[in-house]
Amino acid sequence: MVPRRAHGRSDFEWIRERYENTEKRCSECGYVDEEGNWTSHTDGQRIVYRHVCPSCEASHEHVFDLGN
Ligand SMILES: [Zn+2]
Repeated sequence: MVPRRAHGRSDFEWIRERYENTEKRCSECGYVDEEGNWTSHTDGQRIVYRHVCPSCEASHEHVFDLGN
């Protein structure tokens, strides 16, 4: 998937919101995180989205290469 810019918000926010809305269920324990506690950070080369399950602490990451 290629990040696209939507009106009035950054790629970061757009992608994070997508995950918050689609990946709420932990694949490890099945806990559904209604809060959608995704965090994002970037080192300039990549954007990393990370979620830590509040129930079992399993972490899930999605990494996007910015491809400069
Ligand atoms: Zn879990």
